Amino acid sequence: MIIHGRSMKTIRYSLLFTIMCVGWLFGASCAQEHPIEVEKTTELLAYLAADELKGRQAFSQEIVTVEEFIAQEFNQAGLKKLPELPGFRQEFSISEYKIRRAEGSLGEVPLASNALFGRVYSDSLHWTSEQIGSFKIHSIGADESFRARFNEFSSSAEASLIFVNADHSEIFSRYQQYYSRPSRTMKSVNTDVVFVLAPERFNPQDHAFDLRIYTDKTEHRLANVAGYIPGKRNDEIILFSAHHDHIGIRTAVEGDSIANGANDNASGVTAVIQLAHHFASQPTPERSIYFVTFTAEEMGGYGSQYFSEQLNPEQIVAMFNIEMIGKPAVSGPNSAWITGYERSTFGQILTDSAPDSIYTFYADPYPKQNLFYRSDNRTLARLGVPAHSISTTPIDVDPDYHQVSDEFDTINLNHLNNTIKAIARAAIGMISGEQTPSRIDPATVD
Ligand SMILES: [Zn+2]
Repeated sequence: MIIHGRSMKTIRYSLLFTIMCVGWLFGASCAQEHPIEVEKTTELLAYLAADELKGRQAFSQEIVTVEEFIAQEFNQAGLKKLPELPGFRQEFSISEYKIRRAEGSLGEVPLASNALFGRVYSDSLHWTSEQIGSFKIHSIGADESFRARFNEFSSSAEASLIFVNADHSEIFSRYQQYYSRPSRTMKSVNTDVVFVLAPERFNPQDHAFDLRIYTDKTEHRLANVAGYIPGKRNDEIILFSAHHDHIGIRTAVEGDSIANGANDNASGVTAVIQLAHHFASQPTPERSIYFVTFTAEEMGGYGSQYFSEQLNPEQIVAMFNIEMIGKPAVSGPNSAWITGYERSTFGQILTDSAPDSIYTFYADPYPKQNLFYRSDNRTLARLGVPAHSISTTPIDVDPDYHQVSDEFDTINLNHLNNTIKAIARAAIGMISGEQTPSRIDPATVD
């Protein structure tokens, strides 16, 4: 019954489309229709989740191969490159700074080599008591909670030097171990935050200090892959996205060390590629449709951050961020859930999109997992875009999430393909300009 109902719908849809194409023959050209079929979905997923790509980790050689593959698909689909880009890869770089050496004195006491950690975004830094004002001074006293004060200062938007009372030396060294990894940044200007374990009786109000920090800098090239279909209203954008990076090589389990990321997020990238082919084969849309796969989501979302700075977020009418749609949800196949459902009318539009369809969209069943904040939609939502992630993964019980077992074999290919089709169908009203989700209030997004 289900299969019958579904195929009837497909036939009606195809017929309608053929008629539209005939009309278009007299005016513009009409590309070959590209239905979303499980054969192509399978091919794409098999390629993206292959061992050869070694887990698609940002900064790896293999991720460039993945990006070139996606670019080739976008090219074949007939997408346009973003203005001023030579190809579909949207390259940018991030800098990594690792503290190599620190020296100086606090009062009369020379700085101990292990008495400091923090984030420094320049080749070297020189702070003295004479320059207070160009940076803020704070202290964490013996009777204060180190953890609470650390959290307060570590995300500071101002350059800050924090003197930590020597009573906190134990927890200080634990934090220091963790924060000895490099600080990464995409921007040239950033705020340095340095924690220093102060000697007994040192008081920055009364005693002079002089601090020099030297770093090692590494430059990394990264790239999103992006293309678009120009619409009649070219300043209104419907965005389909998924991150193409994953977590790379992990500790071996039964001889397998490659985290393939078949579900996370080869499934989402497969969807974006299929949607690109599908919509590009249709007559000129009312609104422009952008397709982007982000890099470095697993590393902190650098790809979506860079992308969001290259265009005007006010022009993005909706963002369909597709995350892990290769496994049926706990509620069963033919359903997908949407993060941040109540934050805009985007979710409601999807829920209402096909009342007679067996495919349903509903609110994220795992609010405690904070999934709205755990993917690239967050960056755009912060800018007011109705930006939501669509997923079907039973994340609370999935044994493969971020494991080397996230393999091609675990994916339900029919479910994946049906989900891509359902997303395509649910987006029609937004692409045609008939439906516009309400904006997300940026003030409510952390
Ligand atoms: Zn993911």
